[in-house]
Amino acid sequence: MPLYADIIVNISVSALDRTFQYLVPEEMEAAIRPGSRVDIPFGTRNVTGYVVGLGRTPLVDPSRIRPVLGFAPKGVALEDRAMALAAWMRERYGCTMNQALTTVLPAKKAVRKGKAKLPAPAWEDLEMRPPAVLNGSQARAVQAIEEEMAGQNRPVLLHGITGSGKTEVYMAVMEKVMAAGRQVILLIPEISLTYQNVRRFYQRFGARIGLIHSRQSQGEKYETVEKARRGELSLVIGPRSALFTPFPDLGLIVIDEEHDESYFSETSPRYHSVEVAEKLAQLSGAGLILGSATPSLDSYYKAENGAYRLEKLEFRAAEDSELPRVEVVDLRREMKEGNKSIFSRSLKSKMEERLAKKEQIILFLNRRGFAGFVSCRSCGKPLLCPHCDVSLTLHRGGFLKCHYCGYQIHAPETCPSCGSPYIAAFGTGTQKVEGLIEKTFPGAKVLRMDADTTKGKEGHSRILSAFARGGADILLGTQMIVKGHDFPRVSLVGILAADISLYREDYRAAEQTFALLTQAAGRAGRAGIPGEVVIQTYQPDHYAVEAASRQDYEAFYREEIVRRRLLHYPPSGCMLEVLVSGRDEQENTALAESLAEQIRHGSASSGADVIGPAPHFRSKVQDVYRQVLLIKHPDKELLLRIAARLQETGNSRVQSDLY
Ligand code: ADP
Ligand code: ZN
Ligand code: ZN
Repeated sequence: MPLYADIIVNISVSALDRTFQYLVPEEMEAAIRPGSRVDIPFGTRNVTGYVVGLGRTPLVDPSRIRPVLGFAPKGVALEDRAMALAAWMRERYGCTMNQALTTVLPAKKAVRKGKAKLPAPAWEDLEMRPPAVLNGSQARAVQAIEEEMAGQNRPVLLHGITGSGKTEVYMAVMEKVMAAGRQVILLIPEISLTYQNVRRFYQRFGARIGLIHSRQSQGEKYETVEKARRGELSLVIGPRSALFTPFPDLGLIVIDEEHDESYFSETSPRYHSVEVAEKLAQLSGAGLILGSATPSLDSYYKAENGAYRLEKLEFRAAEDSELPRVEVVDLRREMKEGNKSIFSRSLKSKMEERLAKKEQIILFLNRRGFAGFVSCRSCGKPLLCPHCDVSLTLHRGGFLKCHYCGYQIHAPETCPSCGSPYIAAFGTGTQKVEGLIEKTFPGAKVLRMDADTTKGKEGHSRILSAFARGGADILLGTQMIVKGHDFPRVSLVGILAADISLYREDYRAAEQTFALLTQAAGRAGRAGIPGEVVIQTYQPDHYAVEAASRQDYEAFYREEIVRRRLLHYPPSGCMLEVLVSGRDEQENTALAESLAEQIRHGSASSGADVIGPAPHFRSKVQDVYRQVLLIKHPDKELLLRIAARLQETGNSRVQSDLY
């Protein structure tokens, strides 16, 4: 049977739905694949195109389909790079070539006339500031990165405690890359959350910077992308989509806060920016720096194995800035001793002291993934699945379920650990806490930062700059306040419920909790005023809480990696998560079960561990039912093959993620 190729002749998103079918000559069949660059007859001329799909079905009368002429020589570097990256994403994330290309190619959409522009951010008219003189560890890190880039060019993991001066290191390396005429991409979690850091880049590099952010219009984005393509910019700063900036000669990618979850895409292809950046750096011959105070387990594991180079910054860079003093308060004792308020006695008195001295306070309400889990108000213990060591979620009808393995029990009336009758689904909203602050500390000015108060284009930065200007005594917020701010007048950080995020039904719960607590604690005491942190928790002895209170990443990593190994969770071993969704509950469960059976059968000899299916923790979303299957195996290739086979069934209801 002849093989046909779908080919695009013009690489742009709008061209994706205008592919042309060509016959693949037999001698090319073995080598041709999506992403291949080929010569084709087009009208009366011969042109070069890219293969985006292959198949056996002719779309028109086969006698009218013309043959591919042959492979084309490597051509326009930029387009080849985009194609190669898309082809890699297609394999790695099991998406279609079109989905991969739509992600990789920046939208081509001209600015609409009369479109209001984003008001010029205050940072664009800053006095220029000379670069800081690097301290010893910073200078060593810069040298090591340059050495790595000139040699083996592995990604460099820059592990530096909060305030250790990672940003200065990035800027020093960037400067040299730019001086060599090459360009730089800097990924940060969300610009409106880190505007202070962005300011520093403007102070250093001024007009050569382009900014991409989520609150921009398509037109504004387009303008930046086009400037980058024409080589008019040297640095683009943005969230994960900025990775696909079409720079003519990309020399360096920096991913700040590399552990951040915003670097995982939620739509197909569900890519991880760190992985894609690694591939892109390789394709472009660019360097890659991953920076964090709390690296992801994956990255640290790679650094340990030598796949990444590890560089450390172990001290705070600014003079008279020291790590804050941390007190861990046991909420079980507060309750036992009659304090039912959400403020422990210690936190309350420290807050009163700060308010009297007119110093600022940050209160961090950890609400990550609190939905539905059940815990004891007396001892703080959540109800866990005995098989999977993740928390059970409350479902209608009073059932507690494990979304990993399907284990299910009736919610008990008393706590299985301590017998207390005070067990309940957890959850305290920011608004409620705001009310409690106003009651407990009359006269204190509070700014609340959460999803509700940050709507609109300038939502985040409005609140943050108001707080930075001293417009309030207390900043109360969820995880969005912990990322990378530098408020010199904050001398106290209170973490209201440190352990909530530990109970999330995810094998990464401890990792995420450690990162949140460490980053939140790192907000205190940054210039002159000594900082203090109060961590309120039901689990003062938990290793994630303990290690975070000492800002001790190594200790956390050692403990966590052993657990991952025991349970065969990544990075020790790989895991494929398969999500099956459908509108008919029974039929969907049946499909998930039959897939599980097929995989069990097909991979029996390989020893793959197939768990489930079980309802996803959001088991029904907009009337679509969802079942999850987990497949664990040390061999990533084997899991990729399973994913590819699932993909081949062509069933859009089956989606898989490889961890
Ligand atoms: P990180 O990115 O690791 O959190 P930053 O680069 O933001 O750290 O640095 C923290 C603070 O220390 C900033 O206020 C910065 O201006 C200051 N700083 C960094 N490096 C130096 C240096 N070599 N000398 C003096 N101050 C420095
Ligand atoms: Zn209990
Ligand atoms: Zn379970």
